[in-house]
Amino acid sequence: MGKRAKQDLPLHKVIMVGSGGVGKSALTLQYMYGDFVEEYDPTKADSYRKKVLLDGQECLIDILDTAGQEEYAAVSFYYFLSNFYHIILWTDIKLSLIIIRDNYYRSGEGFLCVFSICERESFAHTQDFRDQILRVLDDESIPFILVGNKADLAQKRRVSTEEAIARAREWQCTYYETSAKTRQNVDEVYNDLMRKIKIRKDNTRE
Ligand code: GDP
Ligand code: MG
Repeated sequence: MGKRAKQDLPLHKVIMVGSGGVGKSALTLQYMYGDFVEEYDPTKADSYRKKVLLDGQECLIDILDTAGQEEYAAVSFYYFLSNFYHIILWTDIKLSLIIIRDNYYRSGEGFLCVFSICERESFAHTQDFRDQILRVLDDESIPFILVGNKADLAQKRRVSTEEAIARAREWQCTYYETSAKTRQNVDEVYNDLMRKIKIRKDNTRE
């Protein structure tokens, strides 16, 4: 196989969603750099790009690591200050955050919807993320994987594998249990999602 310029490679765009503290950043950084990061700025939303081999073929993966709305406090505050001489209502700020969020959802080709197996609330929230994504993209067949992270903390488990599988079945998506700490299933979730994205692109091209 001849060498291809980076810009000619197929590009797959992945978006991480889920409540704060579930390990979206830890999973992303583990996948990108092979390291477990104990402390990462919870308000930081960043994007990453890496050249990877998918089933023997080179491609690029773009990962957008998002920060949830409750973590936007800092952004909102800045927004507030920058509009200091205008009357800004909190609802305006909330609305503009929703617009920002919907815009980045629109840029995604596949989603990793993450919760922590140690936190029931984060599992409940996956329904909200699913609803938001489907509302924006209006497409039930968008590549989407449900991810139960922190699988290494088995003694703190609050969400059973069975109920997570039941939800995945309802959504007709795949479920994985991962650990950003031990790297369990980390490559697998990203590879599986890229595969689903690729299949979908190949099908729509025909
Ligand atoms: P985010 O808000 O979803 O991006 O969550 P972070 O990636 O910042 O992780 C929140 C906290 O959970 C950090 O202290 C991480 O070190 C920790 N964490 C993330 N993933 C795992 C995991 O798989 N196992 C364990 N034991 N801790 C994790
Ligand atoms: Mg984060």
